[in-house]
Amino acid sequence: MKNNHYEVLIVGAGISGAALAYELARYTDVKSIAILEKYEKVAPLNTQGKANSQTIHFGDIETNYTVSKASITKQTAKMVEKYCLQHKLENDVIFSHQKMALGVGDREVEFLLERYEEFKELFPNLQVWDKEHLKTLEPKLIFDENGKEREDTVVGIGSTGEWTTVDYGKMTENLIENAKKEPDTEVELFLNTQVTDIKKLDDGGYEIKTNKETYTADSVVVNAGAHSLFLAHRMGYGLDYATLPMAGSFYMTNQTMLNGKVYMVQNPKLPFAALHGDPDILENGLTRFGPTALVLPKLERFKPGTYLDFWKTLNFDANIVTIFWDLLKDSDIRNYIFRNFLFEVPYFNKKLFVKDAKKIVPSLSVDDIHYAKGFGGVRPQVLDKKERKLMLGEASINTGEGIMFNMTPSPGATSCLGNAKRDVINLCAFLGKTFDKEKFEEELVEHNLPQSVIDEKLQAKYVSEIRAEIHEHEEKYFQNINEGHELPSYWEKPYSPWRNKRDHWSM
Ligand SMILES: Cc1cc2nc3c(=O)[nH]c(=O)nc-3n(C[C@H](O)[C@H](O)[C@H](O)COP(=O)(O)OP(=O)(O)OC[C@H]3O[C@@H](n4cnc5c(N)ncnc54)[C@H](O)[C@@H]3O)c2cc1C
Repeated sequence: MKNNHYEVLIVGAGISGAALAYELARYTDVKSIAILEKYEKVAPLNTQGKANSQTIHFGDIETNYTVSKASITKQTAKMVEKYCLQHKLENDVIFSHQKMALGVGDREVEFLLERYEEFKELFPNLQVWDKEHLKTLEPKLIFDENGKEREDTVVGIGSTGEWTTVDYGKMTENLIENAKKEPDTEVELFLNTQVTDIKKLDDGGYEIKTNKETYTADSVVVNAGAHSLFLAHRMGYGLDYATLPMAGSFYMTNQTMLNGKVYMVQNPKLPFAALHGDPDILENGLTRFGPTALVLPKLERFKPGTYLDFWKTLNFDANIVTIFWDLLKDSDIRNYIFRNFLFEVPYFNKKLFVKDAKKIVPSLSVDDIHYAKGFGGVRPQVLDKKERKLMLGEASINTGEGIMFNMTPSPGATSCLGNAKRDVINLCAFLGKTFDKEKFEEELVEHNLPQSVIDEKLQAKYVSEIRAEIHEHEEKYFQNINEGHELPSYWEKPYSPWRNKRDHWSM
């Protein structure tokens, strides 16, 4: 572009930057877009297929999502699905597996059955699978190493035949390719170009300095993952926020163990998603268990440096101490953090990890898995210093002055097209451009929910049979010896207003 000037300049060619470039090129009259990427290829960090769990998070099997949150997540997740189908990316970028949330033990089973009642309208294809069904669908969930059936009560709440899995790295490449194909917009990608400084110009627009050339733009969107807040701080924005990089690692099985995705019930006290097992689309369907959660004092995994950037973005002060103190005060969270630390320590790691993963696959042994070297990434969790809280969702700083900064921990890949839509609307308002909402809705928004193929009567029968089994067990072994009045437990009332107040925990 002449004089290195663009209407919109995007920092970062992960899935967030790519989705924004695509939407601007296809659904607006923005004429020129630059994407600046620090490394030699697109999606080199958290977006690449080995870095994340490759899941499209709809909210049906993620038991820490409330119905209201799932209804929003589902909309953005559907955009990813619609994009991939529209561009015929089936079995190349997007894949279908069966999926389920697995409840083990009476308490979790009852919790999932209640959750099913609440979620079945939003997810009409959800099914209840009892032990007998699971024996055929996912036999490894039921039988131990001696071929004996596990004794605990179990239930799977899930679905088959849906799009569940995406190679987000490949999708990023595809989004940029398609953005470049749009006839009325010039889209340029600059690799090996690290943004070092962004300055607001007195007469409007921005000057963007890189390790190579200097660019100017009418507006800027920083989709630099863990570095978004780093760049915001350099400009004096977002000083009430800090980044806590939570590394996630994985363990790979030596042979395929699961036919589909199996998520566990999330203890609501714990800040990160419970361990799950997924067929890895880049490893011929071998089962990948994880992710773990470990604070890492650097902003990028498997890349040299960025330790100093971490300290700068953390901006250590008394508020940070308070946030950490509040987290560590709770014994569940303390144990969780310690355990996750041990998952990275050789010798202990595999044994401990297997102990946890056996809840999914009872026959699992240390000889069945290995630490997945080179897999995993960093979730840039945001600390809100004013509120003194660890935020688990994504965060976006829109300055209202034509520059935005996006922080995208999980499920940032799923919500890439939804987040991009938000930024497109803001950019169009700022630049005086037009967003073709009709075309966007027609192509990327799911309007008609598919008809349920589930026999509701049969499902109700399974629910009552599983409950009867639990009650029989309870009557036999448990007496209520509580005296006085107790607060209702989370498990009894999972969707109480009390829980909704904890939504800042709930990614
Ligand atoms: C262990 C783990 C599991 C996950 N599982 C899932 C999942 O199953 N489903 C899901 O939806 N999400 C998942 N996520 C989250 C998801 O991977 C991220 O939210 C998503 O990839 C973020 O994309 P991004 O483009 O915003 O950031 P990134 O992919 O981090 O990309 C940022 C880009 O900016 C570039 N950059 C940084 N600084 C500069 C600079 N100064 N100049 C130029 N370029 C710069 C980087 O090189 C990088 O390419 C997971 C994350 C982790 C770590």
